[in-house]
Formats: sequence, structure tokens, C-alpha cells
Amino acid sequence: MPGKPLSPTTPTVKISRRGVERLRGGHVWVYRSDVVSAEGVEPGALVAVKDERGKFLGSALYSSASQIAIRMISPQAVDDLPGLLRERVAHAIAYRERVVENSDAYRVIFSEGDFLPGLIVDRYNDIVTFQVLTQAMDAEPARAAVLAELAGQLKPEAVAERVDARVRELEQLSARKSGLAHGEKNSTIFVMNGVSFHYDVQGGQKTGAFLDQRENYAAAARYARGEALDVFCYQGGFALHLAGRCPRVTGVDSSRPALEVADRNATLNGREIEWIEANAFDLMRDYAASGRQYDTIVLDPPAFAKSRKNLETALRGYKELNLRALKMLRPGGVLVTCSCSYHVGAGEFLEVVAESARDSHRNLRLVENRGQAKDHPILLGVPETGYLKCLILST
Ligand code: SAH
Repeated sequence: MPGKPLSPTTPTVKISRRGVERLRGGHVWVYRSDVVSAEGVEPGALVAVKDERGKFLGSALYSSASQIAIRMISPQAVDDLPGLLRERVAHAIAYRERVVENSDAYRVIFSEGDFLPGLIVDRYNDIVTFQVLTQAMDAEPARAAVLAELAGQLKPEAVAERVDARVRELEQLSARKSGLAHGEKNSTIFVMNGVSFHYDVQGGQKTGAFLDQRENYAAAARYARGEALDVFCYQGGFALHLAGRCPRVTGVDSSRPALEVADRNATLNGREIEWIEANAFDLMRDYAASGRQYDTIVLDPPAFAKSRKNLETALRGYKELNLRALKMLRPGGVLVTCSCSYHVGAGEFLEVVAESARDSHRNLRLVENRGQAKDHPILLGVPETGYLKCLILST
């Protein structure tokens, strides 16, 4: 409500002109170097953000530890933070009801993308997992409000917290173990696009599955044919989707635990898939050298560029993988190639793939230029919320 007086107890953080410019540009973060004063502000507090002359700019959540000192949550004064958070959770759930199709596993809350900075929530059928990334989201009553709304709306059998130990350390939050916060159930089966997967609260990377690829699995399956190779297959997300179309599917990953789940997933779906534990770079080199050929190849490596600093190395990694894949692709074949490195832009990634095509003398057609699934909404002013690239190419 514009013009509503600020609660006298809301502390103030003043930011520099550069910080103000950043907010004007649509971003919601202000770095510590742009904080002019934050006297007596408690870690994780709700704050009123003002410019150096004292003009009110909005409300934010404050971190005393992170380089990102401020994450805006409203252009207005907020006097009922738990109420606002519950409303945002409800909106996020309602949005998924509109955009998620054919799946009981999806990201329920995507941090800034859902105007809930510092909070990630995923749903795997009847289990909900959450991860807090900031002091404010870890604090009460915020945490309890979010959990109450999630429980009330989604009615899960269990709620589990996934702790990112490094993030907690950086935010100077007390160490905590991952585990159930509510309920007893710690494993389930979820379904995406008609394909079933095992989910285990204790295991896995990220919060369990790569939900951001869900729509790309279905897209890849539409074009897939013949013999297929899924490189960096993890628990078989692409491979299992391709198996509906392709008579032979091979998945490759360096993680044995991931492949064990992949194999259980194949059995669950009544599919036969060959799983190979290997370093993908070595395997691609050997396979390409020995003249192996495939009709469909998927490349979905981990983020090579963790920061802007290793951009060059990352680009070389993508180039090598895509070159080798193109060498192994039969005429008429399909390449599905992904990058989840935020620091590698969509244009740069397309350029690397184009270079690989030139170097391997292949004329490629871009059939689909895709990104992350719609339950990972990209906030325009916050480029960091958009990170996944998925190109589907045909020869
Ligand atoms: N395509 C998967 C997600 C892949 S995530 C899905 O849709 O579910 C990246 C995967 O790469 C992880 O499973 C990780 O174990 C694997 N990985 C990382 N480095 C690797 C390497 N050098 N060789 C093979 N696999 C690797």
C-alpha cells in the first residue's frame, strides 16, 4: 500500500547511488560495497532501503554475511513479513498449477524468480524439499510461515530440508544436517512426462532430480531416433525418456551412485538401458576415435564455469564435447546439447556449438532453442535466474 507509514521498528539500510542504479535496472540485489550504512541491523532482518538522502526505495531482507547484502522483496513498506511470504508461496503454487503439465515433480519456489529470494522448494510427488540460502529465510517467523503455507497447500506426507553446508557457512548460519522436518516418509516415486523415477531424501545431487530439464526431456524424446547416447546421464533423466523412442540407449556418468539409481529407474519403467561408469571426456575421445556412431546424442554436463574466471576453460570444454559428439553423429542424427553455466551466455553457447559444427564440417539445423522449464521462471531484471541452455539440432 503506497504511502503507508513504515513501522518505526523497521531498521534502515542506506545504499549508494550505484546501488540505487542497480535497483532501477530491475535487479533485486545490492552488494555490500554499495551499502552506505546499516547500523545496528540484525542478521536476516527486514529492512527499509533508502538512498543517501533518505528517500525510501522499498523493503528488503538483509544479510550481515553475504556479499549480497540486500535482496529486495517489495517496493513498498512491509509490516507483516510472514503474511507476505505466505501470500507469495500461495502465488507460486498457483502458478505451477497453470504451467506444470504431466508431472508430480517440479520446483515449487525458485527464489528470486518467485519473489522469495533465498528460498528453493521442490516437490517430488508427496515429499516436499526446501533449502534456505539466506539468513532471512532461515529466521523465524519467516521459516515457519513458509513451511506452514507449503504444508497447508500441498499436504505432503513429508517435508525435508536439504542443507547446502557451504551456503550456510557463507551466510554464517549454524551448521545443520539435511533431513526430515516433518513426517516420516523419506522415499517416493515421482512421474514426469509419464516416466517414473525413484526419489530418496538422503541421496542425489541438487535437491534430487534436475527438474529444470523436465520439458527438455519431452522435447528431446520427440526428435530422438535410432541408437542413443546420453552423456552425463545422472539418474537417467534423458535416457529414460529416449528409451520410449529409441531401440538402444546408453547412458554415461562418472557417478556410480547416480547410475545405480538410473538402473533402478530403468527397471521401474520396464526399460533396458546400458549404463556405463566413465569419465565422459575419456569415453567420448575413445568412442570417437574408434568410429562409434549414434543417431541421437545428449550432452548435459555439469556447470563448467562456476565463475566468470573460468569462462575460457568452460568454453573449451563445451567445444571438445560437442566436436566429439558431432563426429559420432550419423547423418540425419539429432544432437541435444545443454549448458547450465550461468556465466556462459545463450549467445556464447550457440557460438561454441556453431564452431564445433564448422570444425567437424557438419551442416547443423537448430530445431529448438530451449531453456529451463517454466517452473524455474526467469526474472527479467535478475539475469542470474536464467541459466539453462538446451539446443536441439539436426543434421
Ligand atoms: N542429464 C542429467 C543431469 C546431469 S548433471 C539429468 O537430466 O538428470 C551432470 C552429471 O555429470 C552428474 O550426474 C555428474 O555425476 C556427471 N559428471 C560430472 N563430471 C563428469 C565426468 N567427467 N564424466 C562423466 N560424468 C560426469
